[in-house]
Amino acid sequence: MVDCAIIWFRQDLRLADNPALTSAIATGLPVVPIYILDDENAADWKMGEASRVWLYHSLRALNQSLNGKLQIFQGPADKILPQLVAQYQVKKLFWNRCYEPWRIARDRLIKENISIPCHSENGSLLWEPWDIKKNDGTPYRVFTPFFRKGCLNALPPRIPLSAPNLSNIFQPHHKSPLLTPIDDLGLLPTHPRWDGTIMSHWTAGESGAQKRLNDFLTHGLKGYKDGRNYPSQPHTSRLSPCLHFGEISPHHIWYASQSVAVDLKAENDVDCLHSELGWREFSHSLLYYHPDLPQSPLNKKFMDFDWAGIDSEYLHRWKTGRTGFPIVDAGMRELWETGYMHNRVRMIVASFLVKDFRYHWRVGEDWFWDTLVDANLANNAASWQWVAGCGADAAPYFRIFNPTTQGEKFDPTGEYIHKWAPDSHHIKPIINHADARTKALETFKNLS
Ligand code: FAD
Repeated sequence: MVDCAIIWFRQDLRLADNPALTSAIATGLPVVPIYILDDENAADWKMGEASRVWLYHSLRALNQSLNGKLQIFQGPADKILPQLVAQYQVKKLFWNRCYEPWRIARDRLIKENISIPCHSENGSLLWEPWDIKKNDGTPYRVFTPFFRKGCLNALPPRIPLSAPNLSNIFQPHHKSPLLTPIDDLGLLPTHPRWDGTIMSHWTAGESGAQKRLNDFLTHGLKGYKDGRNYPSQPHTSRLSPCLHFGEISPHHIWYASQSVAVDLKAENDVDCLHSELGWREFSHSLLYYHPDLPQSPLNKKFMDFDWAGIDSEYLHRWKTGRTGFPIVDAGMRELWETGYMHNRVRMIVASFLVKDFRYHWRVGEDWFWDTLVDANLANNAASWQWVAGCGADAAPYFRIFNPTTQGEKFDPTGEYIHKWAPDSHHIKPIINHADARTKALETFKNLS
């Protein structure tokens, strides 16, 4: 048995621009690459069904790029890691930081209790939440100053690192009895096998993410600023699942887009893309400073809000895209079929649930958590709270999307609706939007 280091892959399923991997390899020790599926510590926030399908394919891709040497485990990481340290004679442990409250708590516990040095690095955010604060030392609650004053005045994001030489990636001869074959993780559905439909729209893994970025830079970036609002146009990157699983770093996207801006005469588009990446940073900062963000409104007035009781038929029709509001139905069916929904349509379907139905935003948050391939605790919680009006820098309560005019405005040719819900025009609308709007305004007004 030889001394070795462990690189623990988490939400950084890539080789390029992976600071923890690069540092592990720089030790000169043989490096054992591992992944741990830790549903126990995740508890209520264990990955949803669509994310698990993505993870399965992403892990296979990572394993392939590590020449089949990725070791996979299942169970509480704080119990598994000490056993591996003993079984493999591990001298150092490396990982990139994650920002979900349960992961922060678990990682802290591991650092405190494990017998070897742990090195954590920043692999997934352009700026650490603790580096972007107001002059008085408190965190921002409004996006524009967070991004413009905070992020853009801080040190620029790290220049992406190249993929390291993998010659000392190592597979111990005596394998741990805890090893779990990827097919035994239960990541794929068994009955029925709906995962093929979703994955027919995607290629998971680092090279798929790189190709998606290249396609976007070539065909989508120019025109992004305006085009990103139109769901039938190719002006969104669809990199969100790749970013969530860390198949690509935001640093890479930041600099790759910057490097083509002038040639494409797309400076404004690149600024806009950078500010969307800024929203991702903002959500992570909110989650970091408000660990109860996924379950509790930031605006505490909403604790006593009079949400409507749930009618299971209504909810079912929202989930399955049968509301009779074509843009809502198209979005919900795109989600079901692909595990993704365009941002503009996410806002419309979310507004419909929390303002027209007046259902608690957590109902929608849970459904998205289960069905999105990019389900991300920070982005999902912050966005649902934003739409509901109870979040940071949230849309005011009186901003209630009219699903009909939104459809007309953002899908003027009807191409998106035709693609996903061509029959929706024939479904009797589930509610009268004008009445629902009046009721919502009354209820929201009672808050203040
Ligand atoms: P692009 O427009 O190409 O943007 C590039 C990247 O910037 C995205 O991949 C994403 O990482 C980031 N980004 C863009 N818009 C936002 C935003 N508003 N907030 C935070 N980051 C953003 N995003 C998720 O990644 N996971 C979620 O679970 C999620 N849930 C959402 C729920 C609701 C109700 C709403 C309204 C939005 C949600 N979003 C979520 C944010 C946004 O819709 C997606 O990030 C975006 O649609 C992803 O598509 P894209 O990669 O083509 O985006």
